[in-house]
Amino acid sequence: MALNELRKDYLLDRWVVIATERGRRPTDFVRQKGQQAKAGVCPLCPGNEHMTPPAVLVYLRSGGGVKKDKDKEENRRKNWLIRVVPNLYPAFSIPKDRISRRQIVKNENLCLAMGHHEILVESPVHDEHPANAGIPQLVHVVNGYVDRLRELSAKSYVRYVSIFRNHGIEAGASLSHAHSQIIATPDVPRIVKEELIASKAYWKKNKRCIFCDVMKKERVGPRFILENAEFMAFAPYASINPMEFWIFPRRHQTSLLEMSANEVRMLAETMKMSLSKLKTLVNDPPYNYGFHIAISKEATDYYHWHLEVYPRLATWAGFEKSTGTYINTMTPETAAESLRANDNKDK
Ligand SMILES: [Zn+2]
Ligand SMILES: [Zn+2]
Ligand SMILES: [Zn+2]
Repeated sequence: MALNELRKDYLLDRWVVIATERGRRPTDFVRQKGQQAKAGVCPLCPGNEHMTPPAVLVYLRSGGGVKKDKDKEENRRKNWLIRVVPNLYPAFSIPKDRISRRQIVKNENLCLAMGHHEILVESPVHDEHPANAGIPQLVHVVNGYVDRLRELSAKSYVRYVSIFRNHGIEAGASLSHAHSQIIATPDVPRIVKEELIASKAYWKKNKRCIFCDVMKKERVGPRFILENAEFMAFAPYASINPMEFWIFPRRHQTSLLEMSANEVRMLAETMKMSLSKLKTLVNDPPYNYGFHIAISKEATDYYHWHLEVYPRLATWAGFEKSTGTYINTMTPETAAESLRANDNKDK
């Protein structure tokens, strides 16, 4: 019988017990219909634009293309394709006046939570989640991420822009309308910071991008899931979640701002394919995803942006919470095998 393995992340000092002994399969995680968000008036549905603060960005259909605009306080745009609105209960607040870095960073243990917290409404259709959405709609979503990233990352008090998505009530989505969130912070969060430090050290030693090297290896291994001309998906070697997968641009890029129009389209396709597969395999499980990017020019050579998808199929309990070491009962090799299978069946 194969022994369980303690595996370390490619970059982070993060360890996971891969429980090969129990060797669970996707079918073991197929769930009953999940909890539903409370029914009621949806503040993100068309017609209810007045229930949110004015949009900072709306995409409107215009001829064959898209026109970009924003709301005025008394005049909310209708017939939008996507809209981005400030969160009513922001974790990070927008500075009212010009503010210097010194006014934000008080000391090494204290920093004011200044920044931005926005909701990107992905579609006028309430449940047009990525697994159900058409590619043109997902292209709008990705372009929306890029537009907000461009604007927010240019602000002097912003050091990081986190773009993420919570799917399902168990994954923290309090609204069931298809949406993502964008949070701009005055500091680089820990996991990204650790990836930056580790990839910089690797670059110094090898003059190569560690992520490019990881992709090269995973592309021909048992954790490979899919690839197209521009993107590749695989299950990471030290996955801490069952069915976890990561999506990387094949071309070396530091942030989403470097994508060509074709790459935006291919990213939309890659997300749609992999997220639909996950939905089919495990009956629409709750999940979170988050982009890891670098916005500092300094990281151009050594950092490579990517999207990490974390299905919420396990409960982290005393061991994980108290030690920071995880237990994953499904090997990433099994996850990749099922996610890449063409027939959607767990063999
Ligand atoms: Zn809705
Ligand atoms: Zn790279
Ligand atoms: Zn990462």
